[in-house]
This record gives sequence, structure tokens and C-alpha cells, in this order.
Amino acid sequence: MIWVLAAVFTGAAIWLIFSLIPKDDTDVDALLDGDGVRLEAITEGETQKRPNVVPKPDIDEQHLTVNEYSRPGDKVDAIENIVVHYLANPGTTAQQNHDYFESLKDLKDVSMSANFVVGIDGEIIECVPPGEIAYASNSMNHLSVSIENCHLDESGRFTEETYQACVHLTAYLVEEYGLTRENIIRHYDVTGKECPLYYVEHEDKWEKFRDEVMDYIETCRKAAQK
Ligand SMILES: [Zn+2]
Repeated sequence: MIWVLAAVFTGAAIWLIFSLIPKDDTDVDALLDGDGVRLEAITEGETQKRPNVVPKPDIDEQHLTVNEYSRPGDKVDAIENIVVHYLANPGTTAQQNHDYFESLKDLKDVSMSANFVVGIDGEIIECVPPGEIAYASNSMNHLSVSIENCHLDESGRFTEETYQACVHLTAYLVEEYGLTRENIIRHYDVTGKECPLYYVEHEDKWEKFRDEVMDYIETCRKAAQK
């Protein structure tokens, strides 16, 4: 009987000793990782962001001179929407439209600009940095990024190059500012103005544009996971 009690006691003692030894390395690492993540979340808060999967498009930065007619230099309140436009000026280039916005500081007769202009060959000029107010989308100016698009004729339809560059730029901005498909809107959705004309007259083409932007992001995400 005493031998049985001794064996039970020894067994219990051995179990106690092993239970006091720290668990294996894997568990310790997991614990440290867990603490690390919590620490980052506390110190960096909402600035913590996953790396972008959509590559930044080729953007030609030609910032306008700060002036009250095309670049007031004021910060937006927030970036809640991407507003898509057309220039209603068939056959003009992105550079010509940029230069026109720049000239407004001297002409002093009208206020107009956009954060980005996409040209008929798909070139992108950044006129006003996103996060700064541009004069394109009326009541939405202080809550959005605006993209003006060049086009060849009165239909307002974008060339394939313009369209693809606009899809890429919009996808990049949607990801950069943590937006969704619903945040991709037209000037028309803000004021009822027929802008961008072709994509107001062809609602299906507009919905397809939004779908293609989201598909673009998804394709980039899948490619990044491989
Ligand atoms: Zn517009």
C-alpha cells in the first residue's frame, strides 16, 4: 500500500515540476508576437495600414501655383469619395487642361481645377495633391478627390487608354484612402450635371466602370498573395 502511495506522490511531484517549466519555444514566441501586435496597435493606432496591393500609376506631378482660382491650398475635411468627370472640351490634352487651370490665377474670371487629369493617351497629370481642395465637384470638393478625363468627341466617351488609366488611378485611390465601390461617384451624383456625359447617358457603362475598378483591386490582391 505504501508503495502505491509513494508512486502516486512521485507522479504528482513530477507533473508539478513539468507544469512549472515554461512551455516550448513555439508557445513563447506566439505569446511575444501577440504582445507585439497589441503594442503596435496601441502606439500606432489607426495609422497602422496594410501595404497597398495596387501599384501606384505613373503620375506626372505638375502642381498648380497656390491661388484662389484653381488651388486654394486648403486641406479637405476628409476623403470620402472619388469623383469622376469629363472635361466637356473634346480633343484637348491633359497638358492643355493643366495649363488652363494654371492660367486661371491670371485670368481671374472663373474657378476651376481637378486633383488629376487623365489624357487621351492615358497619361495622368496631378494638378492638386489629393488631400487638398480642387474646384471640380461643388459641394463635394472638401470631401473628395477629383479626376477629370479628356475625350476625343462630343459623345464624351473615354478612349481605351483614358479608360484604363482612370480605372487604375481610381483603384489606387480607393485602396489608398480605404474606400469602397459606393465611394466611386460621378459629378452627376453630386449636382445632377451631365458629367461625365457618356457615363451619365449610359448607366450600364458607369456601373461596369465601378466593377472594373473593384476587379482591378481584387486582381492585384490575388497577385500579391501568390
Ligand atoms: Zn464634372
